[in-house]
Amino acid sequence: MDPVSAPARLAPLGDTGLWQAVMAAASGRCQCRGACGKSHAKHEGRCEREHGTHRTHAGGQVRLIAAPADPADLLLPDHQVAALPKNRLAAWCPACHHAAHTTARKAATAAQPPAEPDALF
Ligand SMILES: [Zn+2]
Ligand SMILES: [Zn+2]
Repeated sequence: MDPVSAPARLAPLGDTGLWQAVMAAASGRCQCRGACGKSHAKHEGRCEREHGTHRTHAGGQVRLIAAPADPADLLLPDHQVAALPKNRLAAWCPACHHAAHTTARKAATAAQPPAEPDALF
């Protein structure tokens, strides 16, 4: 019953301890290795964005997200993501997370048969 005890939620998982553990394992750096569609070839195949660094064009700071490491798991509903163990999570920068999520959703959609016959032009 303490209204002051609600911390600011840095992570979509709502668990800052887990978020910090994921960030520590990632050395505070985005762990995307191409799931977003970029090769990140200039940075040894891994995204170079680090938490708290300034972005050149947006002016804000990079805020990494703790999210499923496997892009397919990015499509899970929040409560299932929250149940994933730490070793299934990775640090994502918002740009990679968004792009990887979009890519995974497209792949999932493409893998399913069309809901309706595609007979209309
Ligand atoms: Zn990234
Ligand atoms: Zn990326």
